[in-house]
Amino acid sequence: MKRRSGQDPAVTAKWRPATRAVRGGTARSEWGETSEALFLTSGYAYDCAGDAAARFAGEQAGMTYSRLQNPTVEMLERRIALLEGAEAARCTASGMAAMTAALLCQLSHGDHLVAARALFGSCRWLTDSLLPRFGIATTIVDGREPDQWRAALRPETKAFFFETPANPTMDVVDVHTVCAIAREAGVVSVVDNAFATPALQRPMEMGADVVAYSATKMMDGQGRVLAGAVCGSAEFINDKLLPFVRNTGPTLSAFNAWVVLKGLETLDMRARRQSESAVAVGRFLEPRVARVLHPGLPSHPQHDLAMSQMDAAGPIFSFEVLGGRPQAHALLDALELIDISNNIGDSRSLMTHPASTTHSGLSEQVRAEMGVTEGLLRLNVGLEDPADLLDDLNGALAAAGL
Ligand SMILES: *Cc1c(COP(=O)(O)O)cnc(C)c1O
Repeated sequence: MKRRSGQDPAVTAKWRPATRAVRGGTARSEWGETSEALFLTSGYAYDCAGDAAARFAGEQAGMTYSRLQNPTVEMLERRIALLEGAEAARCTASGMAAMTAALLCQLSHGDHLVAARALFGSCRWLTDSLLPRFGIATTIVDGREPDQWRAALRPETKAFFFETPANPTMDVVDVHTVCAIAREAGVVSVVDNAFATPALQRPMEMGADVVAYSATKMMDGQGRVLAGAVCGSAEFINDKLLPFVRNTGPTLSAFNAWVVLKGLETLDMRARRQSESAVAVGRFLEPRVARVLHPGLPSHPQHDLAMSQMDAAGPIFSFEVLGGRPQAHALLDALELIDISNNIGDSRSLMTHPASTTHSGLSEQVRAEMGVTEGLLRLNVGLEDPADLLDDLNGALAAAGL
C-alpha cells in the first residue's frame, strides 16, 4: 500500500539514505496528502469502551495520549531511525532532553560513567553536576586517547559518553575503537552525533549502542525549532528509554516534529554544501589567523581519522586569534554578514566566542583543559555564497587589526 510505504520495512530497506530522508516514516491519512500531516492533538477518541481498554492493555495498536504517541512525531521517529540505521528512535523536546534521557534512563545510584572531556557545555553540567547528585560517579577522560577510556573502566561502569567532532575544539574520537572497548567491557556507548548528523557520520555502523541528537542543529537546519532524538536497539528504546520519557514527559511537540520532518528532506544537500563551504572558509583563514581547528583540513592533527569516519567534515569549525578576548570580540563586532550567534547547524553563517558565551558557565580550569582559550572563535558556515563570507571575513579581519 503506497499510502504507508514510508513505514513498510520491506520498502524502506531498499531506499538509499537521501530517499529515506525525504520519504522515510511517512504515513498518509485518508486524504492522501503529499506532505506529512500535522496532528495538533493532545488526545485520541475511541469507537467504544472496549477499544479504549484494549489500547491501554497494549492489545490494540493505536494512540492514547500525545505524551506517549503522536502520528506526526512518530513519522519523525521512524525517519530518524531509518537514517541512523537504528532499530528504533524516540524524539524529545530538545537535544539536552535527549542526552539527559539517554543517560538517566539507564544509570542508577552506584553506577559509573566515563565521558570525554570535550563535550557540549550542558552535557558537561550533566556529567559534572547532575549525575553525582544522584550517586552516579563520572570519570572525565581525554576522548582522543583510547587508553584513557580503557584505564577508566571500573566494575560498576555502565556507560561511555562522547561527541565527535567535539564542541568547540573539534577533538575527534575514534568511534570504532572506543565503542569496541565499551562492548568488550559490557558497557553501553552513547554518542552525541549532533555536529555530524547521519548524513555525514553513522556511529551505529561503527559499533555505537545509542546515538543521541540535538535535532535543533543540522536536522532542522534553518534555526527554527528545538528538538532531540535518541536512537538504539528496540530493546533499549522500549525497555529503558520509553518508560523514562513517557513518565517524565520531555516530549517533542507535533509542530516541532513537523518542522524537523521538512528539515530532513534537505539535510543531505545542506550538510554536503555547508561542509564544502566550511573547508573553503577554513583554507582562507589558515594563513591569516594563529590557528584553525578544522577536521576537514590536513592541518588538523586528527584529519585522517576524521575523514575515515565522516563523509565530510560538517559546517562547524573553530579558529584562534592571538589578541585574546579583545581581538576576538573586535572581529565579531566588525562582521557585516555573519551574525554573532551561539547557535550552530543553521543555514545562516554564525560566529560566537565560546569563552564568553557557550562555555562561560564552566570554570576557567575546565575551559583551559578543554582548550577553550580567550582567542577562540567558533564559526558555523551556512548556505550563503562562500565568496560573500570570505569578503565579510576579509573586512572584519582588517578592522580587528589582523
Ligand atoms: C546543541 C547541542 C546539544 C543540546 O541541544 P539542544 O537542542 O540545544 O538542547 C547537545 N549536544 C551538542 C553537541 C550540541 O551541539
